[in-house]
Amino acid sequence: MTGKPGRTARGGAQTSAGDLLDLVRSGRAVTRGALQQMTGLSRATVGQRLDRLFRAGWLREGAGGPVDSPLGGRPAITLEFDGSHAVVLAADLDTRHARAALLTLTGEILAERSGALVVEDGPEVVLDGLARWFAELLTETGHSPAAVCGTGLGVPGPVDSETGRVIQPPMMSGWDGYDIRGRLSRAFAEHTSAGTGIDTGTSPVPVFVDNDANLMAYGEQRTGYQDCRAFVLVKVSTGIGAGVVVDGALYRGVDGGAGDLGHIRVGTDALCRCGSYGCLAAVASGGAVARRLTEAGVPAASGSDVRDLLAAGHPEAAALAREAGRRVGDVLATVVTLLNPGVLMIAGDLAGTPFLTGVRELLYQRALPRSTAHLDVLTARLGERAGLIGAGALVVEQLYAPERVEERLAALGV
Ligand SMILES: [Zn+2]
Repeated sequence: MTGKPGRTARGGAQTSAGDLLDLVRSGRAVTRGALQQMTGLSRATVGQRLDRLFRAGWLREGAGGPVDSPLGGRPAITLEFDGSHAVVLAADLDTRHARAALLTLTGEILAERSGALVVEDGPEVVLDGLARWFAELLTETGHSPAAVCGTGLGVPGPVDSETGRVIQPPMMSGWDGYDIRGRLSRAFAEHTSAGTGIDTGTSPVPVFVDNDANLMAYGEQRTGYQDCRAFVLVKVSTGIGAGVVVDGALYRGVDGGAGDLGHIRVGTDALCRCGSYGCLAAVASGGAVARRLTEAGVPAASGSDVRDLLAAGHPEAAALAREAGRRVGDVLATVVTLLNPGVLMIAGDLAGTPFLTGVRELLYQRALPRSTAHLDVLTARLGERAGLIGAGALVVEQLYAPERVEERLAALGV
């Protein structure tokens, strides 16, 4: 914690119920005494604000027993976020495959589903399919639709996070500007009321949409690298995209286009799925490696086929993955020089030793020693669940952000 007590690092007063919740959730103040000290509020005012959070079911007394109070005197009861009062739905959409999960507010996956869903079939079909999975996950775990506080969705394209719409996506034809939030909300309502015939009449569940690599980066950073102030994850599957987390927050750029590395021109004559020639994704993605393998007489239709060949130790696949890694590493030398990250994580179908070796070869050769001195280049920790965990974390961060808490408490009547 920096700054004077009672002030945030941004300089504003830190005194609403939402601010107290934030202090408890982040672990910066977990007793009434610490909250008083941090905010400068009186004991009575802290008590009133905490009572609202208790009535909402958002806070509870910690199981760990009393701790020493910063104000002295009797040991104090600790407070903690009660992650059991609601659940989150999350989905991670790839070009031909999707995963969905029901998570607790603290990021534990309670139930999961995955299968074929083809982005090219268009938003109507795909979002309806996801909503059906969501309804099944609720039934399977015995949760009612009313227990869901929010939904997070990752998509393989650039997203305007304000509107939740994808913008000129190179690999999602039919999705440009489509109202994903509205359609997913309606489909979810249809699928969850269909079985009972009851219109629950509840307001629609908030839907948050973000780029898939962004959500993976957020999930990995939040669960394993919270102290890393500049974190980059590069997803190499059908396409190539990066997510950047700076000071604990996703960096999206002004139009949600930050990190779209796949369509950087690398000076080849290969035709890309976006219609241009010479894109990085046209020579170094899972799809590009699959094509090269097929040409060499090893049939592979997609990045996930390449993943299977790599897992089986196929030498041709390993050689091509390493070459793809060198191509991507060349581009990442610029990324690393610009951002000076502490962690550069490789995720997706090609993430593995051969690709990583290729990345390192070029990266350390091309980037300045200063920008790689404290850099860890690693493969993903959470595997295929990173996007789901990131989506769940993002939904919780948005819904329990101080500026949103007042409105939500008022809606609950507390
Ligand atoms: Zn392209």
